[in-house]
Amino acid sequence: MTETMIEVERDTEGLRQAARQLFEASLVQAARPEVERCMPALTKDLHEPAQHLARAYYERVGYLLRLEKRPPVARDLLACDSRGLDALERAREEFRRAHPPCLHCGALRLIGWTLCWNCREALKEKEEAS
Ligand SMILES: [Zn+2]
Repeated sequence: MTETMIEVERDTEGLRQAARQLFEASLVQAARPEVERCMPALTKDLHEPAQHLARAYYERVGYLLRLEKRPPVARDLLACDSRGLDALERAREEFRRAHPPCLHCGALRLIGWTLCWNCREALKEKEEAS
């Protein structure tokens, strides 16, 4: 068990993937009530990513997200924590690039959607994820 935790802490690529999946899932969860209320036909197009990694990865990301919220002076960072926070930041940058905000309301666009889940405006070409 301890060995597994150490492997997870060191596997920054796995942590990045786990964080990205959690960010994607939280966006879909945020959009779901609005889509169900206003565009029920589109609920089938809401896809939460499969969480295919070991549970320890998601638990580790949860820990890193909590660690990130602490003021820097209160952080007593171990090297593995520092690498983990870097992986979290990479995942967040990827997520931001994949979900540029709607120009009308600022809601993050859903991948593959041609209208905004929040304000239902059509999304313009330039908002397409590149
Ligand atoms: Zn919008």
